[in-house]
Amino acid sequence: MSIQSVRGMPDVLPSESAKWGYLEHQVRQLFASYGLVQIRTPIVEQTGLFARSIGDVTDIVEKEMYSFADRSGESLTLRPELTAGVVRAAIEHGLLHNQTQRLWYQGPAFRYERPQKGRYRQFHQIGVECFGIADAMMDAELIEITEQLWRRLGIREALTLQLNSIGSPEARSAYRDALVSFLEQHRESLDADSQARIDRNPMRVLDSKDPNTQQILVDAPSILDALTDEDRAHFDRVCTALTEAGVPYVINDRLVRGLDYYGRTVFEWTTTQLGAQGTVCGGGRYDGLVAHLGGKATPGVGFAIGVERLVLLLETLDAFPADLERGCEVYLMLQSPEAEPALRRLASQIREAAPELRVMTHIGEGSLKSQLKRADKSGALVGLILGEDELRTGQVQVKPLRGGETQTVDYADAVAYCQRLRKAQWII
Ligand code: ATP
Ligand code: MG
Repeated sequence: MSIQSVRGMPDVLPSESAKWGYLEHQVRQLFASYGLVQIRTPIVEQTGLFARSIGDVTDIVEKEMYSFADRSGESLTLRPELTAGVVRAAIEHGLLHNQTQRLWYQGPAFRYERPQKGRYRQFHQIGVECFGIADAMMDAELIEITEQLWRRLGIREALTLQLNSIGSPEARSAYRDALVSFLEQHRESLDADSQARIDRNPMRVLDSKDPNTQQILVDAPSILDALTDEDRAHFDRVCTALTEAGVPYVINDRLVRGLDYYGRTVFEWTTTQLGAQGTVCGGGRYDGLVAHLGGKATPGVGFAIGVERLVLLLETLDAFPADLERGCEVYLMLQSPEAEPALRRLASQIREAAPELRVMTHIGEGSLKSQLKRADKSGALVGLILGEDELRTGQVQVKPLRGGETQTVDYADAVAYCQRLRKAQWII
């Protein structure tokens, strides 16, 4: 039997990867326009980093991590998210000393979950982390960035912004008492996980996906009633900035997010188009995390997008550009083996004159008919044909493949023709 991929860890095949390339291109362009710079951290970190940052009593740390002992016995973990590693790196390399940082990242993350549509064991996140800026305007700008991305991708209408403030640690400790006494009254009706969490981490109960527990929680006290004046002012400033920017939101006071490090602003973008896996992006403020991981107290705020869910959403909405399947713009064919050196030279000239074009040459045997078939299949906009006649006259046939007359022209004119072709906008 041949070896299979690991369960829940899908391949991205060539037929799909253009979609990923398109998304990444849009993301890079948009993030750069906000002055964000990329950081790349390792996929593996010390296990303690995640236990300490994400929190012991969370789904991720309790049951989803890929942890293992390496050959020296050290406990390592495949990152279940990227924020912890980014914060670790920022502290380790002094990126937070008297300076602000606006960073973005992309890459795989790993969680041992039950694989299903929109939920995998290896998945990919694209995210942003900003450090050193306590002002609520930063929270609002990050939300604005995500909204701009949905607009550029043509999926804005399918997404709803859920917004909440979970306050400062003071607010949460006041809220905790009210919440625990509510949960105690309903203990017997809660799901088993939630019962266990009442004492260890009651806020986590709000994150339960159990429908019955969710129903009970409708009557739970609201964190918004426990906010301090400063928390309230911060939240109001986020809300006002969003309103001014024309970004509608729904306040959802049950939204806490599945990681312990958040405080004050939390948000999620959700869709009804993907069934149960409807959260495409989540984020919030985490002013305590840097100090908690051993750095100097530094405010932070960020978000993460689930790339697979975003791809699924664009597929569902048929929002990928039509020319995404095009493999190249120019396809060169030869009618006689003698034409090969000239054909390769011409291809090089075009690549040099129009570096953004994709230029493929036919390699090997094959009748002109079969070469034309391949050219058509490649999605190319134009075919260039060199035969014995053209070799003699120093010319080339330019055959538009999507309608138009074939002409025989000098090389220089063929190169100029290619330079005028519409390149694929999304190619990096
Ligand atoms: P969920 O509630 O769906 O389990 P989460 O709260 O655990 O999501 P986060 O930790 O906030 O997810 O991660 C940010 C984003 O990464 C999610 O909104 C989602 O789009 C994506 N994501 C999380 N886990 C997975 C997974 N196992 N497979 C695919 N995408 C995922
Ligand atoms: Mg999860």
